[in-house]
Amino acid sequence: MLEIRDLEAGYGGVMALAGVTLSVAAGEFVSVVGPNGAGKTTLFKTVSGTVAARAGSIRFEGQDLLAVPAHQRPHLGIAHVPEGRQVFPSLSVEENLQMGAFTEAGRRDWAANIEYIYRLFPILLERRRQLAGTLSGGQQQMVAIARGLASSPKLLLLDEPSMGLAPTVADQIFDAVVEIRRARNLTVVLVEQRAVEALESCDRGYVLETGRVVLSGGQNELLSDDRIRKAYLGM
Ligand code: ATP
Repeated sequence: MLEIRDLEAGYGGVMALAGVTLSVAAGEFVSVVGPNGAGKTTLFKTVSGTVAARAGSIRFEGQDLLAVPAHQRPHLGIAHVPEGRQVFPSLSVEENLQMGAFTEAGRRDWAANIEYIYRLFPILLERRRQLAGTLSGGQQQMVAIARGLASSPKLLLLDEPSMGLAPTVADQIFDAVVEIRRARNLTVVLVEQRAVEALESCDRGYVLETGRVVLSGGQNELLSDDRIRKAYLGM
């Protein structure tokens, strides 16, 4: 579904992606883990189009994505749930979800999506008229994910959903992602610094360091890899 080859991107003199190659098949749940500054957010931004690629290619369902303007990419079925949630703080929960339903598919599926979202996150139903900016961090993350779902995507890009959340709240979010993927048959790419939790949730993973893929493999392969255990598990 998503084929990224030799992708390079950066900011002025900073080379954030130095030739990244990765692929995600339809229905897969793939994690991209790595330390601060590895280029994880930049990777997503080049897929959603807010950062321009300097070299390489991105194909989505066979189509040359780099030839598609950023504002049209959500209509192809790509939802980017950004780092730091970026909810609209002065809109209600439900208005945030409506903002997510701006694609044709999102408008068509609104009733079914909203029913699913409120079943998945009952607290959002309870708080649907509350301003999103007044919610807790975990609840705002639910809104951000739900807003992405409201566009009826095929591919969901989740950028560090656990950031700033207490471990138990982060676990709830990871569980919700696993459930969404199962129930909606979505393709999910999750970027995380919490490598272990992310790898435990997914099918396959990539480890990104200073703009390069340094390791990739299946969930069990990565979780038992000595380099991962040393770097991320402190073993
Ligand atoms: P984090 O977990 O901190 O978000 P990351 O793996 O997502 O890290 P990126 O945010 O993609 O990494 O950053 C990759 C590199 O690009 C870093 O060296 C970072 O300092 C740099 N960078 C990111 N955004 C900008 C920007 N807007 N201007 C200049 N440099 C940037």
